Amino acid sequence: MRDTINASDKDKARFLRVFAFIGAVTSFLMSISSYGDGYILLSILLAASVIVFVSPFVVKGKDAVIAVVMLYTLYFLMGYLVISGGSHGTGPLWLFIVSPVTFFIRGLKRGAFDLVLLAGTISVLFIYTPEIGLYDYQSFYFPSRVMLCFSILCVLGGFYEYYRNKYSLQLMQQVEINRKMASTDSMTELYNRRYTLECLEGRHYGEDAVFILMDVDNFKQINDNYGHVIGDEVLMYIADTLRKVCAGDGIVSRWGGEEFLIVVQSQHAHKAHTIAKSIHESLRASPFKRDIHQFNVTLSIGVHQRQAGESIDHCLNIADKRLYKAKTSGKNRTVSDDEVEFA
Ligand code: GH3
Ligand code: MG
Ligand code: MG
Repeated sequence: MRDTINASDKDKARFLRVFAFIGAVTSFLMSISSYGDGYILLSILLAASVIVFVSPFVVKGKDAVIAVVMLYTLYFLMGYLVISGGSHGTGPLWLFIVSPVTFFIRGLKRGAFDLVLLAGTISVLFIYTPEIGLYDYQSFYFPSRVMLCFSILCVLGGFYEYYRNKYSLQLMQQVEINRKMASTDSMTELYNRRYTLECLEGRHYGEDAVFILMDVDNFKQINDNYGHVIGDEVLMYIADTLRKVCAGDGIVSRWGGEEFLIVVQSQHAHKAHTIAKSIHESLRASPFKRDIHQFNVTLSIGVHQRQAGESIDHCLNIADKRLYKAKTSGKNRTVSDDEVEFA
């Protein structure tokens, strides 16, 4: 998810620079052309706009503010182009670039709000421009058609933005669902083996990790006595217990059928002992209950504190050997450092 958000931030930054580059080059060329045509004030305003459009390439880390400043610079230019007519009365035509840029920078709601305000302001300017005597559009036809086209562009741009938002949100939700499905076990909602291995191979769980490998005692018997559905519910009950004991610390995963693995970042094997002890205690204190069934479930646990230079495979092997030892020495206990701890 974070990657998706970052990618969209990067795309926004890229778009801002494309807009800024086009704005800077166009304003610069138009400034020279206006100067040549004798529109001195327009030429100065365009030259000043070049400075605003160049700012994202100079000022770092202020993209959000610069984007809004650039947009309102564009609005200001539009206002001036309408009352002055721009070069040979073509100024209002630049209104057509405003709508897509506004939606991209301001989003749907604020963009729509800004565009309505701009449309209102421009309409008023069109009406009063001949009266002020700044520019004479000769007839009502040109300004009214410009405003009509501008309004249609805004409405279409708004719809486009609405659907773009809607579908990109759905896409991001789907990506999140897929990511969750790929990393978790659907029954217990614990991390799955594949994701756990991926995490362990990453940097976070480096040298300082304790491995706590668990296997449900006599699970086949639970299935045989109460049926597979109750067996599944026992696995979910164990998952809840492990989640509660770890309280967000480390990775809690379903390692296989009725095997679970907890990996916690710690330099001290003591931490693993505390966790293992809490698991035994919690299972003893809160028996599994469903309808008329109530019984205690126990786990055998093998613990290993990772030593410098040991591979993940090696750590898991040692934890597995200790788990086996816990089974063969009577189950419902923890074995670590080749010591047996009774639950
Ligand atoms: P031990 O104490 O030695 O671990 O004995 P056990 O009976 O727990 O071990 P065994 O390996 O003989 O049996 C494990 C059983 O777990 C067999 C398998 O059908 C069952 N099992 C594995 N995954 C699931 C599951 O998702 N749901 C259910 N209900 N049973 C499962
Ligand atoms: Mg097993
Ligand atoms: Mg078992």
